[in-house]
Amino acid sequence: MESKQSVMILAEIRSQQVHDLTWEMLTWGRKLADKLGVQVDCVVLGIEQGNFQELIHWGADRVLAVTNGRPDGILATPAARLLVEIIRAEQPGIVIAPATTFGRTIMPITAARLATGLTADCTELDIDPKDNLLLQTRPAIGGNIMATIKTARTKPQMATVRPRSIKPDGFDHTRQGEVMIKQYDTANAWPETLLSFRHNEENDINLENADLVVAGGKGMKSKENYQQLEELAVLLGAGLGATRDAVEAGWAPFARQVGLTGKTVSPKVYIAAGVSGKIQHLAGILTSEYIIAINEDADSQIFKVADLGIIGDAPTVVTQLIQALKDLKTDGKEH
Ligand SMILES: Cc1cc2nc3c(=O)[nH]c(=O)nc-3n(C[C@H](O)[C@H](O)[C@H](O)COP(=O)(O)OP(=O)(O)OC[C@H]3O[C@@H](n4cnc5c(N)ncnc54)[C@H](O)[C@@H]3O)c2cc1C
Repeated sequence: MESKQSVMILAEIRSQQVHDLTWEMLTWGRKLADKLGVQVDCVVLGIEQGNFQELIHWGADRVLAVTNGRPDGILATPAARLLVEIIRAEQPGIVIAPATTFGRTIMPITAARLATGLTADCTELDIDPKDNLLLQTRPAIGGNIMATIKTARTKPQMATVRPRSIKPDGFDHTRQGEVMIKQYDTANAWPETLLSFRHNEENDINLENADLVVAGGKGMKSKENYQQLEELAVLLGAGLGATRDAVEAGWAPFARQVGLTGKTVSPKVYIAAGVSGKIQHLAGILTSEYIIAINEDADSQIFKVADLGIIGDAPTVVTQLIQALKDLKTDGKEH
């Protein structure tokens, strides 16, 4: 395929709306496109209307909105068929989607149909100045190394990128761009029908978007102690997270797991109680703005990334924090 080398971003669609994760993808897209001196195209699948101008403010030069006129939105296989058509017509050099259920479903089908490579779950993207190829970095071999992968022989170079791997940046309300809306023949393009949709209640735990996250690890010592963190989280209005070891101990559901094989969080404050700070856990918290760690071991790895360290027994410190917050509330001194 002859490439015009644009960077194409697939917008994340949830409940038939463009999801905020798209701003992160556009931030990556802008960063790469500026290095290559090319434009950013943002593809929006299955949405009739929306604030497409906002996508331009976040970094897109062109928005390609493909609508189907159906109330049930767009399903993965027709979405992939459309994306293949769009890529064939527009010939981007790079295509990026978030590593969400949406992106992880559509991108492999699309890459297979285009007979090109796809690097899933990247945590870092860059351009190799030597050959202008996309450098796609992701954890490999059980998270023990970071591998940088190139799609050297086929185009486009396709990658899914972990949510929260970059802070959305570069919003510019003066940025100008073009919005193109295309209607597809639904009868031919959408033989599939959505029969029903079952919501995964565990995913209601709003960890990824929380400004404050409290997380517990094995140093909390017991399920009962871990449950105290729930009280702390409620008092602080925080999301509640856990290490894999805490999840494996049955203290918390998988939906709370933070790290390489769990969620990536990006809060203003991350409080880690009884967490050792192994590399696989750190992979999920490093874009946090301020990390507070409570650990009894002064040499613990978590203190190397913490902005504030409390050396002590985590269950005791958590109990004291809860009491102090309750006292503040009853004294009416809460801010
Ligand atoms: C492929 C792979 C993927 C993985 N993915 C993830 C992932 O997504 N997320 C994740 O978290 N892990 C993941 N892990 C596991 C990871 O390597 C660690 O085993 C895990 O993060 C450790 O959890 P922890 O900190 O709760 O337990 P530990 O490592 O056992 O640490 C407990 C900590 O608590 C402290 N402590 C003990 N008692 C107290 C006390 N009374 N008060 C205060 N502190 C105390 C100890 O000093 C220690 O630092 C993965 C591993 C692999 C191989």
